[in-house]
Amino acid sequence: MPELPEVETVMRALAVRLQGRMIVRAVLTRSDLRRPFPPGLADRLTGSRVLGFRRRAKYILMRLSGGDSVLLHLGMSGRMILAPIGATVPGGHQHVILETDDGWRVIFCDPRRFGSIDLVRTAAEDEHKLLAGLGPEPLDPRFTGPVLAAALAGKRTPIKAALLDQRVVAGIGNIYVCEALFRAGISPRRLARTVTGARAERLAGAIRDTLSEAVAAGGSSLRDYVQPDGELGMFQHAWKVYGREGEPCPACPGPPGCAGIARITQGGRSTFYCPRVQR
Ligand SMILES: [Zn+2]
Repeated sequence: MPELPEVETVMRALAVRLQGRMIVRAVLTRSDLRRPFPPGLADRLTGSRVLGFRRRAKYILMRLSGGDSVLLHLGMSGRMILAPIGATVPGGHQHVILETDDGWRVIFCDPRRFGSIDLVRTAAEDEHKLLAGLGPEPLDPRFTGPVLAAALAGKRTPIKAALLDQRVVAGIGNIYVCEALFRAGISPRRLARTVTGARAERLAGAIRDTLSEAVAAGGSSLRDYVQPDGELGMFQHAWKVYGREGEPCPACPGPPGCAGIARITQGGRSTFYCPRVQR
């Protein structure tokens, strides 16, 4: 599933191709994905100029002339393909196709159809029901230790579960929660309400740094964002703990070191961590 840095990267690539362009044609090959498309979507897109983009959590907002924003979620398997008009783009599931006045096509493919597209007035983006309850944006400078500690106050759940709650902090998923807790030296099992003061400061910083580094890595992959198949989306990271059960722990060079990265299950999701340095 695309996580926040992938969504940011996709948004930046879309901005390079679409910002300032006119959408001259919009084709919808079905009437819904996870939810029905808003009525008149193709008509609303056609003839609009793309004014700009914004990301909120894992949502992309594409702002159009006329005062609407397209609210896009990639879901589990959604991806974007950029290709010149006329180029052959193999593969099915091409659900939304936009053509620009400078001869490009943007194709949204979503085989599993967990993605979604809606329209919202640009002036009221944050009032949309999918955005209204979201917590602070982790890359916003206003996301600080005290803000995080306040959101965790009184929570008796493990910090791992609390960070996956989108009301606590918006848009970070399982992978980056594991990585940020490792970086901050905080056990995923620690009670959320005990993450206060300097520890909360460290965790907020670790979340920000982990995500910004991944965004930067995605940005460097943007160089080649028009591949022969034009696909944007997932890129490989060098994760320190995620998916590394039993591997040597980067925090504990041996000997004696630790027993390697451990995996536990919390709330039905795998957590990877070092039981020795994460407290
Ligand atoms: Zn270790």
